[in-house]
Amino acid sequence: MAAMRRLLTDDACVACGAPRVGMLTLCAPCRRSLVRVPDETAAAAAAPWPELASVTGLWLMEDGSAARALVHALKYRSMPLSGIPIGERLARLPVPASLRGCPVVPVPLHRVRERERGYNQALYLARGLVSAGGGGAPIEALERVRADPSSTHLARVERAAGRSHVFLARLELPSGPVLLVDDVFTTGSTAASAARALLAAGATEVHAVVVGLTPARRRALG
Ligand SMILES: [Zn+2]
Repeated sequence: MAAMRRLLTDDACVACGAPRVGMLTLCAPCRRSLVRVPDETAAAAAAPWPELASVTGLWLMEDGSAARALVHALKYRSMPLSGIPIGERLARLPVPASLRGCPVVPVPLHRVRERERGYNQALYLARGLVSAGGGGAPIEALERVRADPSSTHLARVERAAGRSHVFLARLELPSGPVLLVDDVFTTGSTAASAARALLAAGATEVHAVVVGLTPARRRALG
């Protein structure tokens, strides 16, 4: 499998090109440059979205940051397996004890996009997260029925109607909390839309866990 060969043989840091060791695709200095998401930034990201019980992010996605390069490589450089060690780091984030063992659902791509890319990066993140927690497999509970991200206007219409036009649930979920896994949280409209579909399918709370959170000023801009 080309993607497997690539992860194992491409030992250059995806951010700066320096030699690297270890499973994370960054060299040691770039790893050290990663900035953890402050609690207040995560809380501010969740605040506009009542559908999301919480948002937990790993690293700030500043322009030019190693975090951005890491996520870019995961999504666009045919390096799906690089999502596993990142997902394992997601498992170390502090989440309430009540969420341990709850269903882990990756945000899906539209099938056309997934066919182009060859994989859904969020599924690999979810696999890493689940494996580090000793659980079973992620649950692919959602289908993305619209390729485009929802506009702000449409997001408002959806929220008013209490439903999602971007995602459909493929199965019923047990009553209880769900962890929703994605690579990046920008405005939150994608996560909130996915959360609406999960809530409609039986989940009682949706907690978003993401690798990269864009700083608040970027969210404010758009
Ligand atoms: Zn580097």
